[in-house]
Amino acid sequence: MKIKELKKPLKLKNNGALEIFFLGTGTAFSKLYNNNIIIIKGNISILVDFGITGPRALGEIAGLTYKDINTLLPTHSHADHIGGIENLALYHRYVQNGTNSRLKVIINEEYQKVLWERSLRGGMEWNESNYKGTKLTFEDYFEAVRPDIKTKNGEKNYSIDYNGIKLEFVPTNHIPDNAKTVKQAFISFGLFIDDRILFTGDTKFDPEIINKFSKKAEVIFHDCSFTDNPVHTPLSKLRTLPDELKKRIYLMHYEDNWKDIDVKDFAGLAQAGVRYIFD
Ligand SMILES: [Zn+2]
Repeated sequence: MKIKELKKPLKLKNNGALEIFFLGTGTAFSKLYNNNIIIIKGNISILVDFGITGPRALGEIAGLTYKDINTLLPTHSHADHIGGIENLALYHRYVQNGTNSRLKVIINEEYQKVLWERSLRGGMEWNESNYKGTKLTFEDYFEAVRPDIKTKNGEKNYSIDYNGIKLEFVPTNHIPDNAKTVKQAFISFGLFIDDRILFTGDTKFDPEIINKFSKKAEVIFHDCSFTDNPVHTPLSKLRTLPDELKKRIYLMHYEDNWKDIDVKDFAGLAQAGVRYIFD
């Protein structure tokens, strides 16, 4: 992996190498921007999460505008992951290309319902009547791109090859605090990207996920909280992992006091505004 300084604006096309770019690496309450990323490969780019700081970070960190974004993948419904989506979608419909412009959203049916009904609908459905004469729906703003479903032992596994970018959805146990397993937890996903990079998204410490992907993952971008935290992964837990594995882990979703924290046993802290390139 190479880490390259960004010359703004971030180019959303490259020579075909897999590239990960962080718009931010902070917790929900951090002064750092929200932990949102852009995946780039060839002509394809996917914005993974777009939180409340997303609109500012897009310009200030990446040098991009709303117009540059055409594909989105939300991992779960906290504001630091979806808080910018309404604004982005309204822009696409009413400012950019008129009412025919829809954002592509890689999302399964179950989470689409939750995202629309419980988060986005309040600010989005009343803006006009659609062609049927009724209030706007998810489909008026977004074109859903469905991942493939494979059922194994009664569990649904989602994955997609999105124009050459392979994404395996990794269900995580993030919330509520007392959920002991992924099954008990509310919808939340990490991603295994192109069979080589694990992006955990928001998650508690989960040895099962680490065991499942640690052999194949060249690099792991892992949720990390410097203090104990009931819904994220405490750094103290990650420190218990084997040294060889820690050297492949970049910490993300961390607090503002990162300069005071010794993370020498890890690959490092993921940084916003640099390009992680996997040839
Ligand atoms: Zn979260």
